[in-house]
Amino acid sequence: MNYKPQEIETKWQKLWEENNFYQAEDFSKKPKKYILIEFPYPSGDGLHVGHVRSYSALDAVARKSRMEGFNVLYPIGWDAFGLPTENYAIKTGIHPQKVTEENTTNFKRQLKSLGLSFDWSREINTTDPEYYKWTQWIFLKLFESGLAYRAEIPVNWCPSCKIGLANEEVVGGVCERCGVTVEKKVLNQWMLKITAYADRLIEDLEKVDYLDKVKVQQVNWIGKSYGSEIDFKVEDSKDIIQVFTTRTDTLFGTTAVVISSENPLVEKLIKSEHKEEVEKYITEAKKKSDFERGQLEKEKTGVFTGSYCINPANDEKIPIWVGDYVIATYGGGAVMVVPAHDYRDYDFAKKHGLKIREVVFGGDITKYAFVGYGKLVNSGQFNGLSSEEAIEKITAWLDKKGTGRKKVQYKLRDWVFSRQHYWGEPIPIVHCPKCGQVPVPEKDLPVELPYVEKYQPTGTGESPLAAISEWVNVKCPKCGWSAKRETDTMPNWAGSNWYFMRYCDPKNDKVLADSKKLKYWLPVDWYNGGMEHTTLHLLYSRFIYKFLHDIKIAPTVEPYQTRTSHGIVLAEDGRKMSKSFGNVINPDDIVKKYGADTLRIYEMFMGPFGETIVWSTQGVKGVCRFLEKVWSLISENTERKESSSEILRALHKLNKKIDEDFKATKFNTAVAAFMEFVNLCREKKEEVGQDTIEKMLILLSPFAPHLSEELWQKVGYKKSIFFEKWPKPHPELIKEEVVILVVQVNGKVRDKVEVAVDISKKEANKLAISRQIVQKWIGDKEIKKVIFVPGKLINLVI
Ligand SMILES: [Zn+2]
Ligand SMILES: [Zn+2]
Repeated sequence: MNYKPQEIETKWQKLWEENNFYQAEDFSKKPKKYILIEFPYPSGDGLHVGHVRSYSALDAVARKSRMEGFNVLYPIGWDAFGLPTENYAIKTGIHPQKVTEENTTNFKRQLKSLGLSFDWSREINTTDPEYYKWTQWIFLKLFESGLAYRAEIPVNWCPSCKIGLANEEVVGGVCERCGVTVEKKVLNQWMLKITAYADRLIEDLEKVDYLDKVKVQQVNWIGKSYGSEIDFKVEDSKDIIQVFTTRTDTLFGTTAVVISSENPLVEKLIKSEHKEEVEKYITEAKKKSDFERGQLEKEKTGVFTGSYCINPANDEKIPIWVGDYVIATYGGGAVMVVPAHDYRDYDFAKKHGLKIREVVFGGDITKYAFVGYGKLVNSGQFNGLSSEEAIEKITAWLDKKGTGRKKVQYKLRDWVFSRQHYWGEPIPIVHCPKCGQVPVPEKDLPVELPYVEKYQPTGTGESPLAAISEWVNVKCPKCGWSAKRETDTMPNWAGSNWYFMRYCDPKNDKVLADSKKLKYWLPVDWYNGGMEHTTLHLLYSRFIYKFLHDIKIAPTVEPYQTRTSHGIVLAEDGRKMSKSFGNVINPDDIVKKYGADTLRIYEMFMGPFGETIVWSTQGVKGVCRFLEKVWSLISENTERKESSSEILRALHKLNKKIDEDFKATKFNTAVAAFMEFVNLCREKKEEVGQDTIEKMLILLSPFAPHLSEELWQKVGYKKSIFFEKWPKPHPELIKEEVVILVVQVNGKVRDKVEVAVDISKKEANKLAISRQIVQKWIGDKEIKKVIFVPGKLINLVI
């Protein structure tokens, strides 16, 4: 009787599904536990083994929690709007909706073949009008609150995808999706005012239990800094250039101001003799993306405008330059140049012959900039103050004079929420020539995507929807005049901002979700997802949730109590899995050959959960052998009822270890401990009783549900193993056993120490020579030999 997973797995999957084993119960008296994985994008490539890593581990947590008496919600759905599907549709001529359906069906089959305990009765799909009705409703609420607005701003423009991209979608200066270099284009865009929530997004991190690195990344992304906004008056003009700095103490050392090429003052500042040179420079700058411009290692370039401004600290006349490294949307589009105290300013000054004036004493500015804090020099009445004191005092002085003020600044910018694409949620706004922007009345939601033949982007900055006149032309909901629908659609983050709320009440057609159900289930107790979503999805969804809390929809301040992250799974050759490299591992193949239980356990065992891991076929085989050992151990078990105390102790220790490791997301060490335990049972087969076999199966069931269920029936039970209670380790049996170790020097007893029963020779040796009394007998003599009797004595021969 060999282990044949192919013969047992589908049988149990069917039975579990038919009996609704995994349906969560609203308002159950049991304590609730909401366990969440990031719902997948159903791409044409099918399920990736990276998905399986997260889903298997959290599935084990969900299964264990149910056995511990929790009412568990472990839901699944589809994040299905977005570019890959649209691009595929353009290429093949198959409608994106059809593509989505096919991909979803395939994903569903794959997920089910893994025996994951999702509650399929709550399945959602972001492209379902019944779902995106509420995504649009949230947009209307944001609009009513003034948090959705339109602005003409330069956006990252992908010339290949022909759409505007959010900063987060530009990776290394290229389009995240197609890899083409991103350009600049000015478009009228919908924006979401996430900056209004910047402080709360930082402060409330204290209320949640996220991995430290997740918190740090979010705080850095928001990038809050305290400083001053300083006014530099343009010479012979009323215009003022505003500059933000955190180093107000260096103001007296400012010897130039650099403005961005998009700054509205630029035209006015260019003197005729510099016109040609500056305009040529600006044309070149416009071709570069924000990323290229902001890169630290890049050389700072610039050109003199011919104009001057006045340093408000010492009334000195200083030149105004245009430089492409100054980004319009950050800090007002201008920076002050302090060559003596900033590395990049130092290089810029050297290259262009600007003055370098030391105002903070501490380094040797003839060689390089001094960027530290120190005592002020060449700074008028502030000489002798420390940098910290000077920042306070100079800011107050400027404030009094009316030429500067305290200011808090953020790196976080408002979120570009428009896409010029077909496959997304239509933005529910009508543009009326009389009334302006008019929200679509709630009763008319959803604004459904019209069926079209062509989804090619227009390339003019308009979405393909603009070409469908019968859809675009409508009556204004307010005044009845001929008006036009907004043709931009939402980015694919829109549907994933709030999906975890919909799981609480997925079929509600009156409200986004019933408030009592939201109150029962939220916040999510444990949310696992990729590190790459820390600054995008995770931050956006916290923002939207906080807004929904403010308008009395979301019941709590934060959506997720705990956030963990899993590492990426690389191909066996150490590269990213990719069709073009031919190194993709398809979960289907592994399930077919080794079974779902092997794949699930292998992915939990492959390495520390948070780390990037290279796939290993050897490792998969090793896990499969482990399950074969379990199978034969139990199949061949004798009639013995009770186990020896050694086996029992090991079993209860394993129980404790699994409990601890699950809490700490150390799934790999939990599996390793299990393997060790099974090896011990095989070595001491005749000491293993029925009691151990049964408990072992219960402990194994979250990892290998199919095999455990099968063997559970084999040992004589009719009811599913998943109705069993999760065992608690017995305190007496998990106590570390101690013995008295005798320490001898040259055969004479010199000391006695309490040690763990299984202390090794090396540890015992180390412990013995560390004892003062033993050291007295050894002195500076060499230890020639160590005799060790495990659990009894150690004899040092000198
Ligand atoms: Zn692109
Ligand atoms: Zn109107």
